[in-house]
Amino acid sequence: MKFATKLIHAGIEPDPTTGAIMTPIYQTSTYVQEAPGKHKGYEYARTQNPTRSVLEANLAALENGDYGICFASGLAAQDAVMKLLNPGDLILSTNDLYGGSFRQMRRVYEKFGIQSRFVNLSDPEVAREHIRPGVRLLWVETPTNPMLNIIDLELVCGLAKQHGILVCVDNTFASPYLQNPLDYGADIVLHSATKYISGHSDVVHGALIVKDKALADSLHFIQNATGAVPGPMDCFLVLRGIKTMHVRVQRACQNAARIAHHLDAHPKVDKVFYPGFASHPNHGTAKKQMRDFGAMISFDLKDNRIEHANTVLSNTHLFSLAESLGGVESLIGHPATMTHASIPREERLRTGLTDSLIRLSVGIEDVDDLIADLDLALSHG
Ligand SMILES: *Cc1c(COP(=O)(O)O)cnc(C)c1O
Repeated sequence: MKFATKLIHAGIEPDPTTGAIMTPIYQTSTYVQEAPGKHKGYEYARTQNPTRSVLEANLAALENGDYGICFASGLAAQDAVMKLLNPGDLILSTNDLYGGSFRQMRRVYEKFGIQSRFVNLSDPEVAREHIRPGVRLLWVETPTNPMLNIIDLELVCGLAKQHGILVCVDNTFASPYLQNPLDYGADIVLHSATKYISGHSDVVHGALIVKDKALADSLHFIQNATGAVPGPMDCFLVLRGIKTMHVRVQRACQNAARIAHHLDAHPKVDKVFYPGFASHPNHGTAKKQMRDFGAMISFDLKDNRIEHANTVLSNTHLFSLAESLGGVESLIGHPATMTHASIPREERLRTGLTDSLIRLSVGIEDVDDLIADLDLALSHG
């Protein structure tokens, strides 16, 4: 099955009892058993729920995996991966990653004896130097957030395999439509389905997708033992959003390309971070491993003033000032005070995340209206 067909059909059958074409919302906490231990595969809804099972099968197919496991949020999914580790283990990750992922590693797990190190994995030399014995988990996010660097998945997964290091790729920024990390040898793919997968900014949800049965069993065990499960209504909303992922992400990527080129030529804009530019340092890697260049763009202002950034952020009308990304509507954000405020300023500056950096999540509105909105905001200040 090709991707667009999988979105709509993989793992999805009409409801056997009624023929309902849409997966029902099984709003139940428990399931009646015929005799002790004799049941239809469902015992208690923390452990399994039919709406969730359908979504899990669908997500597994979208990422070319065998097992999907759904969670209450993207960070709950990360938390389950972290619980595979033991005191003394070392995590290696990129120095430019989602602020909440950094916060969980540093502020929650360090006290349990799990150390994390953050380096620039988009530089092959740095990757070769740091992906070595002693690392237990390699945590990759690509494109990175918010600097839009690209990490070569084939390279880092290959290095990790040589040393028996578990690899988890946070594929939230790309979406399964653009990139499938399991194909490059990743062990686990993580999604904040809150973003492109559900696509309508109406649900918080997370997922892990794996190929290995033993790994899936361990993660299921952790989830059942610790309880971060999504509700059936949320699973229904994610399933509904998935059906249009290809058309949404395709249009968002087209809009983003137009906007990136427009900003690049704008007199008040300094640097535009967008992997679709031929001049982007990782453009070749992006072309190799992604089907398009995504719909996230960051840019810096020529004068580097936070006051100017604030003026721009306060003067768009179609781009809404908000955290998050991946919805049909365009959003504008200020990483230094919003999504990445939990990362210390010196660490932020080291990666290029200045106080005047602005991040866009480009939606699927008419691109001419979006460009006019940005031009108007940039004309202030
Ligand atoms: C939003 C996000 C997360 C966290 O997901 P939640 O659903 O908000 O818990 C993790 N990684 C990336 C890249 C994200 O954008």
